[in-house]
Amino acid sequence: MSKLQGKEIKDAGMQTMLAHYGDETFHGAVVPPVFINTVFAFDSYESFQRSQWQDEAYYYSRVSNPTQQIAEKKLAALEKGEAAKLFASGMAAISSTLLHCLRQGDHVVCSYPIYNGTYQMLQSYLTKFGITVDFVDFRQLDQVRAAIKPNTKMLFCEGLSTFFMDVFDIPAVVQIAKEYELLTIMDNTCATPATLRPIEWGFDIVIHSASKYLCGHSDVTAGVVIASQEIIDGIAKSEVVLLGATLAPLEAWLLTRGLKTFGLRMKQHAESAKRIAVMLSSHPKVMRVNFPLLEQHEQHELAAGQFSGNTGLFSFELNGGAAVVARMMNRLQIFKIGVSWGGFESLVYSPGLGINPYQTSRTEHETRLERTIRLSVGLEDIEDLMEDMIEALDF
Ligand SMILES: *Cc1c(COP(=O)(O)O)cnc(C)c1O
Repeated sequence: MSKLQGKEIKDAGMQTMLAHYGDETFHGAVVPPVFINTVFAFDSYESFQRSQWQDEAYYYSRVSNPTQQIAEKKLAALEKGEAAKLFASGMAAISSTLLHCLRQGDHVVCSYPIYNGTYQMLQSYLTKFGITVDFVDFRQLDQVRAAIKPNTKMLFCEGLSTFFMDVFDIPAVVQIAKEYELLTIMDNTCATPATLRPIEWGFDIVIHSASKYLCGHSDVTAGVVIASQEIIDGIAKSEVVLLGATLAPLEAWLLTRGLKTFGLRMKQHAESAKRIAVMLSSHPKVMRVNFPLLEQHEQHELAAGQFSGNTGLFSFELNGGAAVVARMMNRLQIFKIGVSWGGFESLVYSPGLGINPYQTSRTEHETRLERTIRLSVGLEDIEDLMEDMIEALDF
């Protein structure tokens, strides 16, 4: 199916697009096959040569593969971008994109707190190539501006800050980037295209860990970069081929399967998370709920103007610090303790557990970390999740 009543299927509603766009059909099979092969063979010298002149031709699965391309088409359409490239993990997508876009002597202005892998990549790994970074709280626009230097090349950010879910004025940041001709990259893993589409706000590149909500079943590690055809072609011809962090066909197929229910899953995650957040916000043991779409949140208005909804991810802060956090987390039955998020299963995590985002040391965030609990609200029945939360707080 390529058209729906004259409209491109790519531009249909999210669930319709994900169900039908980009799939290759064979013998009428409603589910596309897995091209698990590494090699595509040719029957003449000339046809091999021709394949090298055509960008779309397949010859080796590290470079491209039809099963990957089905997921890439859906992901590009989901973010309203021109093209997408899959990677073996979110970090592979982030590091390949940074290595593609930056060169020796460049400077990056990055939002903080940010995903710890991104932080380490920018703060330490890339320094061996002479690339420098300044981390700035993007809520402070004057600080973003002040951090820009003559060699600044890029603004890198997340739409919702790691752990605290703070938001920033997206159009204002895009305006600053335009003024200084900076490349803009958003890691949109946390907000997902169900609530935010950065390319529509003027961002150049969107990156995801597809291991989270996009796949949604906690059984695939994957990443994706979405941008203009020109940028994606550049990454595909250099970092994909040379660094080789390609997503395997089976994983790409699982990701496509996960995407078929993305819209539905996100609705349920959002509804359940909101109910839990509302309950927590009036609970005497809770000091603060980091959920910008709640009316009492100081960033409510800004968030409501930019996000079409929430996801299942948010955090809250307990009165009493680390000991109380441990006690509550140990009392939870359905919510299991684990890193990552975005799957069908409810998870709970505290930055106090050990994998500390040391980027927050000596900042206003440091004291908040040990009393913070992050929830990834899964797809279990909401009555059970509410009961689990309420019981765990009853000590
Ligand atoms: C998980 C995550 C990553 C890294 O993705 P992997 O698939 O684990 O490599 C990057 N950014 C954010 C915001 C994440 O949550």
